[in-house]
Amino acid sequence: MKNLLLTFILSCLPCIVWGQAYGYTIRQEIEQDSIVYYASNDNFCPYYMELQLQVDSLLWGKPYFFILPAQTTLHRVASYPKPARAGKVGYVVYAFFGNPSQKPDTSHVYSLPYAPKTKHFIMQGYLGRFSHRNQYALDFKMDIGTPIHAARGGVVIKVKQDSDKGGRTSAFAQHGNHIIIYHEDGTLAYYYHLSKDGSKVKVGDKITQGQWIALSGNTGWSTAPHLHFIVKYATENGYGSVPTWFRTSKKERTYLKAWKKYKAKS
Ligand SMILES: [Zn+2]
Repeated sequence: MKNLLLTFILSCLPCIVWGQAYGYTIRQEIEQDSIVYYASNDNFCPYYMELQLQVDSLLWGKPYFFILPAQTTLHRVASYPKPARAGKVGYVVYAFFGNPSQKPDTSHVYSLPYAPKTKHFIMQGYLGRFSHRNQYALDFKMDIGTPIHAARGGVVIKVKQDSDKGGRTSAFAQHGNHIIIYHEDGTLAYYYHLSKDGSKVKVGDKITQGQWIALSGNTGWSTAPHLHFIVKYATENGYGSVPTWFRTSKKERTYLKAWKKYKAKS
């Protein structure tokens, strides 16, 4: 698991969540003979978490894996006997949006993530060799400032819109503005590269399919203005992604392909 998580971290930096900015809190208490951990979650989706004690930066004991449900107050999640080794006690935590026991509903039909009757070209499709290796992601070419509409209803669990930086190297990945919407089947839609202050929604907002949520942009790791769209779900080894059906002006449901243009239904 550790290796898989590490691989995941190296390959998918923007997807990692750390601490309070994401609505969860971990508190460490030293109680008599043990080190006890408490966690709370103010966010609107569960987290799948791995937590492990550290002594002087060395991992100690066995890791705990647990689900931290949405909207829960501080409660005990892990406890270790006080380590025999003297040193500074701390912990590492990995947190993933979602719950691995929930399976994605692959029959759901998504709408195109832009305004009715507008058309966009797919620059890179599922498993594309440029930057979508092993990812069911879609890149829709669009001018900066194009309205983005929710492809599926859900609740907003993350908004980043403070960046005006974009560029062609992975160093820019952390600067990508994005919105994440959590769906009822436990999947998460990521809308990436949005413009600065381009969000029309905030964390906790309930969103309906087709609702205007943002303006597109070119922030983060990006070679040209576009929307990067991906549907992910938590697994015990990090995130997976799924291909999804879309409704277009021509078809009730279809999978989208690279190098084609698709018009949103009116
Ligand atoms: Zn992409």
